[in-house]
Amino acid sequence: MPSADVLIAGAGPTGLILALQLAKLGVGFRLIDEKSGPGENSRAMVVHARTLEFYRQFGFADKVIRLGVKSGVAHIRVKGRPIMSVNFKDMGGRISPFPFALAFAQDDHERFLVEQLKAAGVQIEWNTKLTGIKQKDGTVLAGLALSDNRTQEFEVRYVCGCDGAHSEARKSLEVGFGGGTYEQLFFVADVKVASGFQPDITVNLDQRVLTLIFPVRSSGMQRLIGLVPPALSNREDLSFEDIRGGIESQLELKVTEVNWFSRYRVHHRVASHFRKGNSFLLGDAGHIHSPAGGQGMNTGIGDAINLGWKLAHVLQKRADPALLDSYEPERISFARSLVSSTDRAFTAMTAEDLRGQFTRQVVAPLIFFLGTRVIPHVLFRRISQVEIRYPDSPLSEGKAGKVCGGDRLPWTGPNMDNFAPLRSFDWQVHVYGKPVNDLTSACESLRLPIQSFPWGSSAHNAGFKRDAIYLVRPDGYVALATEAEQASEKINAFVKRHGLCSSAEARSRISI
Ligand SMILES: Cc1cc2nc3c(=O)[nH]c(=O)nc-3n(C[C@H](O)[C@H](O)[C@H](O)COP(=O)(O)OP(=O)(O)OC[C@H]3O[C@@H](n4cnc5c(N)ncnc54)[C@H](O)[C@@H]3O)c2cc1C
Repeated sequence: MPSADVLIAGAGPTGLILALQLAKLGVGFRLIDEKSGPGENSRAMVVHARTLEFYRQFGFADKVIRLGVKSGVAHIRVKGRPIMSVNFKDMGGRISPFPFALAFAQDDHERFLVEQLKAAGVQIEWNTKLTGIKQKDGTVLAGLALSDNRTQEFEVRYVCGCDGAHSEARKSLEVGFGGGTYEQLFFVADVKVASGFQPDITVNLDQRVLTLIFPVRSSGMQRLIGLVPPALSNREDLSFEDIRGGIESQLELKVTEVNWFSRYRVHHRVASHFRKGNSFLLGDAGHIHSPAGGQGMNTGIGDAINLGWKLAHVLQKRADPALLDSYEPERISFARSLVSSTDRAFTAMTAEDLRGQFTRQVVAPLIFFLGTRVIPHVLFRRISQVEIRYPDSPLSEGKAGKVCGGDRLPWTGPNMDNFAPLRSFDWQVHVYGKPVNDLTSACESLRLPIQSFPWGSSAHNAGFKRDAIYLVRPDGYVALATEAEQASEKINAFVKRHGLCSSAEARSRISI
């Protein structure tokens, strides 16, 4: 039986990113999936800036960007009439090194991540299903159905349920999944159009329907997502041909080939807990919501990044096990607010009454207009996930300048790129200005690298305070923000409180 400290159930985007992070940090794990290989449907299309920032930490953001299509122009139509084209290019300005959203189909995305794992020497155990979980004292017994039809009881320190909306992990742990299911039926199709590949996005807002088109670079196809007209939504045998006429006239295009057609109902649910004992829920296993804003997959990836380094620290004795207690409060509060905001947006956008029609035909185009021409930064901050923060976390402390403990480290711009050191995926201290005298020796004894940046308008505009000290977590969030005075004492106290130490120190402790 393979030995491992962590069992990851599910090799969707969430499980793949968790696996990549654990591999990078040197943790032994098994990654299983009941399917025979990576997903074959494009599903999630949008990769947001925050996810690309994490991908930069792995060193493959640029590769992913080359495989996708940077969002450029979106054409807005109302009832089939073009009303405006809005430019999304660089809407994030200097907020992120990736001031755009990327269209990258989920099946291509998963295949790419599987390749990265292969390069890291990780074998995914396909055709292997999690059948149940039993909690023991300090470990977990996971029931597995193996690819050769044998069953196995695998004892492991931690189980991570990344097994999607119907999660066996969640059911075995008897964790509730409260919420509901929307009445509306969605369709999704990958098609070729007569006019050839279109790199732009099109949105059609109609009286009863809503349709979006995205580009899929790898296949040269367009991805259509929309609401099935209510009159057809109960048809068991619904096919693309039933909606072809409406789509072609609304979007003024001719579909010449249909690669994939599916329909689905959308749910809005959040698990009552993201952790039970030594088992965790991540991604769709913990939260599902309407596709408004393309947040689902990106949020699952954020869960994986949040948990991965914490598991590695605890397993490698670099932190007190209580570090893992911060996963649920940090991620569940965002999941709850996401489900409720996407629910409000979805309900308003799809209502059949006059209010819904007004939202689709007047409010939504106005939001597009204001969001892209007048206040692009506000819209970008809202949807790109760069605003996710953990102010109430037990790991977040202090404030210096405009930056608080729990904030994502603000980016200082291309001329002074303070995100470059985050590639270490480890703790670091940032100073914008001059480090106080005793900081260097305090950080040396804690083996904490200091990243020093010159003071100037880039740091000021990003919200930093001159000479203040920012202790940054491996996932790029500020843990402690403090004025220069007493910074060494505060860092020492923080490190002590959470039982943190460097990997070298942990290795020497273990060998003792
Ligand atoms: C039709 C459709 C369209 C969508 N469009 C969008 C969109 O435009 N934007 C967006 O952000 N999101 C979209 N989503 C949601 C998005 O696809 C999910 O949020 C994302 O896939 C979540 O990733 P995950 O890894 O958490 O779960 P999943 O992708 O569901 O992966 C779970 C994995 O676990 C495996 N598994 C399940 N049970 C077991 C078990 N018992 N043992 C072992 N393995 C198991 C599965 O085989 C699967 O590989 C869409 C979803 C659907 C269904």
